[in-house]
Order: sequence, then C-alpha cells, then structure tokens
Amino acid sequence: MAVPYDGPKSSICRILLFFIPVTPLFPQLSYFCSAKTNSMLRTHTCGELSLRDVDKKVTLCGWLQRSRDLGGMTFVDLRDRYGITQLVFNMETLPHLCEAARKLGREYVLQVEGVVAERSSKNAKLSTGDIEILVSSFVVLNEAALPPFTIEENTDGGDDLRMKYRYLDIRRAPVREALLLRARVAAAARNYLTREGFVEVETPVLIKSTPEGARDFVVPSRMNQGEFYALPQSPQTFKQLLMVAGMDKYYQIVKCFRDEDLRADRQPEFTQIDCEMSFVTQEDILNTFEGMIRQLFQDVKGVDIGTLPRMTYADAMEHYGNDKPDIRFGMQLKDLGPLVKGKDFKVFDDAELVVAISVKGAAEYTRKQLDELTEWVKRPQLGMTGLVYARYGSDGSMKSSVDKFYGPEELAKWMSHCDAAPGDLVLILAGNEGKTRKAMSELRLEMGDRLGLRDKNTFNCLWVVDFPLLEWSEETARWHAMHHPFTSPKPEDFNLLENDPGKVRANAYDMVINGVEVGGGSIRIHDKTVQQQMFSLLGFSADEAQAQFGFLMNAFEFGAPPHGGIAFGFDRLCSLFGGADSIRDYIAFPKNNSGRDVMIDSPSPISAEQKKELGLH
Ligand code: ASP
Repeated sequence: MAVPYDGPKSSICRILLFFIPVTPLFPQLSYFCSAKTNSMLRTHTCGELSLRDVDKKVTLCGWLQRSRDLGGMTFVDLRDRYGITQLVFNMETLPHLCEAARKLGREYVLQVEGVVAERSSKNAKLSTGDIEILVSSFVVLNEAALPPFTIEENTDGGDDLRMKYRYLDIRRAPVREALLLRARVAAAARNYLTREGFVEVETPVLIKSTPEGARDFVVPSRMNQGEFYALPQSPQTFKQLLMVAGMDKYYQIVKCFRDEDLRADRQPEFTQIDCEMSFVTQEDILNTFEGMIRQLFQDVKGVDIGTLPRMTYADAMEHYGNDKPDIRFGMQLKDLGPLVKGKDFKVFDDAELVVAISVKGAAEYTRKQLDELTEWVKRPQLGMTGLVYARYGSDGSMKSSVDKFYGPEELAKWMSHCDAAPGDLVLILAGNEGKTRKAMSELRLEMGDRLGLRDKNTFNCLWVVDFPLLEWSEETARWHAMHHPFTSPKPEDFNLLENDPGKVRANAYDMVINGVEVGGGSIRIHDKTVQQQMFSLLGFSADEAQAQFGFLMNAFEFGAPPHGGIAFGFDRLCSLFGGADSIRDYIAFPKNNSGRDVMIDSPSPISAEQKKELGLH
C-alpha cells in the first residue's frame, strides 16, 4: 500500500515520499514495458476514462484544479492536457488518505491510483463525466504555490496577469484548445502540401531587409561591426531564389517579423504558411491553394466550403467598400449620386460620393438609435460629418431625414435602387470618395454585427483578384507596389506601365474569409529587365536597385522559371477556425500591445560590455 502524503516534509522526506510510493504502484516489470502506454507514471490520461473502464485499476497524473470537502467524502478535479477526471477520497474507508487529500493545494502535481467507478450524479459537460476514481493511494509529485488567478475554463485573471504567467494560462482549457487547434491546422497543411509534392525548405532568419511595406527588426553584427542583419518580413526573395534553384514547389511554416504598431490581429512576430511554385499560371495557384483551404476546413472543422467564388478588386471596392469583403451577408453599397444630385441639398451636391446601404428590417429604428449611429460615423476613425437615413415603413410609407429636399417619388427611386423592401432602413453617407467608401464599408459591417449576420460558424471564402499593381502615395509623392515589387503586371496591361501606371492590374490575388484577408500572393516577375523597370517605377535608381536586389536580378540572368506563390497568415487562419477575433490565444507566448513579452520581460537593456562587443554606443 502506498504511503499517503500527509503535509509538507523536509526535502529528504519529500524524495522518500516520491520514491517509496511509486514502486508499489507498478508491481510488474511488464507494466513498464507495456506497448499500450508511453508513460511509466500513468496508465491513462485525465480525459479518456468512461463507463467502459468501470472497475479498472488505473493510475493518473495531473494538476489539482479544485477540491470540495463534503465531510464524508472529498472530491478532487484532476486536470491534464486531455481533460478533467473526478477523484473521490472516502473518509470512512480510508480516513488517513482522505485527511491527506484535504491538505492538498490548488495546482499540486499528483499521481493517483484507484479504481474507476460509475458516478451517481453524472456531469454531461465532461467527457469523463460518467465516472470517477475511488482513490486508493496518491503521491505528491510536486507542490505548487497559490496560482495568481483561477486556472479554470473561466478565469478571474486579467490580460496582463495571464500573459505574465502564460504557462499557467495555457493550463486552462480555452487556451490549451487554441494551441491544439493550431497544431492540427499545421499538420493538415503539411499533409496537403506534402501530398501535392511541395518540399519544406528552411530559409535564413538573419537576412537583409526586403521591402514589404513595414519596418524591419534589425540585429547588430558583432563580426561585421556597424552592420546589421534584418529579420525577414517574409522569405519572399529566398523562395523566389529557390525557384531559380529548381525546387519547383516550396513551402515553409515560417516565422516572419514586422516592426509595426500592434493591433488585436497583429504581432511583431507571426507565422506564415509560405509557398511558391514554378511553371504555373495564376489559375494553377488559385486551384492548388483553394484545394488546401478546402482540405483544412474539412480536416479541422469538418466543413465543406465548396468552390471559392472570385471577385475583382474593382467589384469588391464598389460593392463592399473594401478589398476584403465579408460576403456572409448582402447589404451591398449602392451609388446614389446620379439620383440625388441637383436638388439643392448641398451636402449631396458637393460630395464626390453619395453611397447607401439598405438594412433589412431596421425601418423601426428609434430616433435615439439613429442618433447613436450618427455619432458612430462621426467618430474620428471614420470622420463623417453626418448620416442621412430613409425609412421604408412596413405599411409602404417612406420618410427620410432630408424630406425637405426629396419628395416621395424620389424616395421611391432610392428604395428601388437600393433593393429596399417595406420594413427596411436606408442609410446614406456622402463626402470624399475614399473616406466615404471606407466609412460605409465599416457601417455595413457594424450593421451586419448588430443584425447578427456575421455568425462565426459560417465560413464564406472567396478570392479577390486583379489588384492594381501600384498605388499612389500622397505622403511620399510616388508609386508604391500594392503587393510587393516582385509582382508581375498583367501582360495585357503591360503597355500602360509607362504612361498610365495607376491603371495597370497585377497578377495578384488575396484569399478572404469572413472579411479577413487570410492569404495573398502573386505571379512574379522573372525577367531582369522587367524587374529593373519595376524598381525604377518605384523610385529606385539603378544603383539603389542593384545594391538592394542585385542578388535577385543577377539570379534572373541564370534561367529563372516563370513562378508565383502565396503566403497565408497562419495565426489569423487559426483564430478564424477557432471563432476568435484576436490571434493572441493561438500563439503560445504572444507579445502585448507594446510589443513586450511580459513573462520574460523583453525587450530589455543589454550590458555596456555586450554593446561594446557589438560596436554599439
Ligand atoms: N511575401 C508575401 C507576403 O508576405 C506573400 C507572397 O507574395 O507570396 O505577403
């Protein structure tokens, strides 16, 4: 019989306690060698026992989540990665053991031996809820300090505390499940890509900066003082060089680094499923990666997402106001300009864009609700000056907030143009084109949320294609690559490059799921002269282009195949599968909003000696 634990001991006693009881728990040598278990300390996990196992003698290991002392009985929830199993200590039959169990603290690490029994009051919420373990002996494998927050499904710990003690947070089921889901998504992606003939190749982490539109993290070089490596924003140039190298189909689940201001869905270091293929057209890439996402949904969610529709960038902007449309619901943007101009309403007359949406069943919105929506669009983030509305009453009546300027006949035209039906509310914004379209896109999403049209368990995926190659930046007064400088123009738009670069469309595509851009890529330039032309359009002198990207352009001289690729935001994809807004819980050790790891307290100063060695002063 095992010696029950009876309170803290000196360290020598603790060692004895550890060793004495373990031996009798495993009486037969064969047990240690059993092929059925990969653990010598436990026979089962805390998540697998059920009525089938009643009367079995078992040994479990785990953490004490909580205990309830009911006088005659003490109940303990024992937790591990796999679940929770209820332990019962009986005061009548084993009083010493029960008394020892009462002294155990939260998060103590236990090894417990006992017999599986059917529970009298079952817990349908637990996979092991039909059974409990009648404990015959236990060993304290380790004591635990009182945890700083409750380690249960719901916790009283605030964000900062949970991040500081992330290893405790990960013991909680929601965080643990998020990480397990992440591992499943990675495994499914690897399976698919391997099956399709992709080769996983690692690319370096200490590189030279690639212009992907964000700031680089840099690392000082000790051996080359005054010089710096950059951490990759993506392995873009390396994967293209792998195509020149003839690898043909490459992938990598890879860490990327961007020194940007952080938001809920951004981290300074994040992971991509990064892919590249040779001898392909855009069509081949869309088909291959549509196949991958379909497989991931199938494997991870058991959902068939069917064929992905395709929408041009121009249509996405016109109908949804942005390039990552959430197509779980309609409520498309309608240009009201031609219907409303020239009626002496200055706001509409002066506007570059008058745009409307029709909100189903919202005609009865109260004045207060409409005022609140008006304030919502006036927030500095959207910066609108006001909101015009028109109600289409269920009795067929029509009334707007601009009745002074527009009569019933005009309102009827608006309603029909916006596909509004009795009971609907038309919301209208007017102003500068870019700002107004963006604001309407936000308002559409907000109304979608309010009407419950953005169900997290419905997945609507699509490709957005035909992106512009370049966008003009007022700030820098020059063209910027919309995707990156290696993206090839559409051959049919090639002749516009010189004189009308803004009109050139790219062979670039994004995969969008529920309004989130989960992946993006392009067919690349594989010709040195075109690549040089692109750099010159982007304002690089020939020397600058050679200094920064000479390695790539030189490689193009040695027989570069036509190639293209894509990268998926792996953290985002996981959070989407998990139905969460933030990617944080899908990353084991994330940074906070100031880019800090509060657990290890990083970034941190380095010593004067280290600085000297690196040539930093
Ligand atoms: N390197 C690109 C990115 O990180 C993806 C690609 O073009 O393949 O967005």
